[in-house]
Amino acid sequence: MATTEKTCDLLIRNALVLTLDAGDRIVANGTVAVSGDRIVSVGPPDDSRVRWLPGRTLDARGNILMPGLVNTHNHSPLMIVRGMVEDRGFAPAYLQGVPQGDALGYEEALALARLGVYEAVASGATTIVDYYLHPGALAEAAAEIGVRAVLCGRIMDTTSARLAAGHTRHDPAVGAAMLAESLDLITRWSGRADGRLRCDLAPHAPDTCGPETLARVAAEADRLGCLVHTHLCQSRREVDHVRERDGRSPVETLAAAGLLHDRLIAAHCIHMTAADVREAGAAAIAVAHAPVGNLASGRTAPILDLAASGARISLCTDTKSGDMFEAMRAAIATARVRGAEYEPKALDVLRWATTGGASVLRLGDRIGCIEPGRKADLILLDRNHPNLSPVIDGVGIVVHSGRGSNVDTVIVDGRVLIEGGRATAFDGDGIVAEAQVVAEKLWARHGTQPVTLQ
Ligand SMILES: [Zn+2]
Repeated sequence: MATTEKTCDLLIRNALVLTLDAGDRIVANGTVAVSGDRIVSVGPPDDSRVRWLPGRTLDARGNILMPGLVNTHNHSPLMIVRGMVEDRGFAPAYLQGVPQGDALGYEEALALARLGVYEAVASGATTIVDYYLHPGALAEAAAEIGVRAVLCGRIMDTTSARLAAGHTRHDPAVGAAMLAESLDLITRWSGRADGRLRCDLAPHAPDTCGPETLARVAAEADRLGCLVHTHLCQSRREVDHVRERDGRSPVETLAAAGLLHDRLIAAHCIHMTAADVREAGAAAIAVAHAPVGNLASGRTAPILDLAASGARISLCTDTKSGDMFEAMRAAIATARVRGAEYEPKALDVLRWATTGGASVLRLGDRIGCIEPGRKADLILLDRNHPNLSPVIDGVGIVVHSGRGSNVDTVIVDGRVLIEGGRATAFDGDGIVAEAQVVAEKLWARHGTQPVTLQ
């Protein structure tokens, strides 16, 4: 048979390829060719029909090549609260004395966003959802680092200072201003960074947005045809407040506002009644499952019930860390705590973290698995790490024992961002150092003297 010579920009050789394609094909000693931002070939080692002439060859040395992970819910500047709020219960947005939200200036948000995005990417995420105040800073950080990102401004019609003080009084004018900022973000940033960035709408939660603001967001989302990201049934406090205010559950309030549909991605979904689960499932909402964050507050979500009812499941770290491997394991453990003895299995949660996330973000035809025509969003796990041994079925060890710190190489759109575990496309050490300085100042300003300054 004649051999054809073909050029490509990047050739990854000697990889154990977990394709996550429709047949969940695994290729030992596989060769993946990338041209521009696309995968052009996924082949066995002994394909004598093709001789590749690559711009660059990356010898994977038997390491595990898999699709980049899709982390569907984060607030990167909230890295500032890490290690400081977990013992205080519940979400930082509702806590006093925490430097967050309105307390952050643009440059501070940017420094913290860079840290959050860097960690997510270094831990193997090639696509993230990120939303918070100063959404322009999130977009800037994502563009600089080179990740694929879905970005939103955080819309609520109260302020974090008011919320932390226990006031839930709604001011639709505040919500309208935040919605306007979100629409401006879409105009300025959607489609930027060679199409890696997209912007959607994100009303914070049914308790922090009144019915008027939720309805306005629904109308704009319908007009734009965009996705809507939110927190749903995250706490008893949210459920009680909405019940008192609207005489409904948070799920029913979203339905009444016109937001319970298949373009909704709802994080948490913990405190749901059986009727809520049925209604959310019937609407085919997507869930950004945050098992680690849920566990941190001592809760688990009825994920398998939601899936059985028709909801689509994806996984996220919700800024608790960037480690989607930890999230995959926690998703298995928390489902089993709720009574599903042997479900979900490793491959199920790996799909949630890859093809599932891609699909709920409506990127399912572009990312999520390794096959020709897809975007070259790839990660390599270093099998020299003892926790990644033995590799027998290829999937079990990755899910049940893998860690973000096993990620050696991260490629987005065919561009190598991390190699040998180090940032190569941006200044990783600089990001960590700058975030520390910013965080120290912010905590000090809020009455907590960092040990590093004593
Ligand atoms: Zn969140």
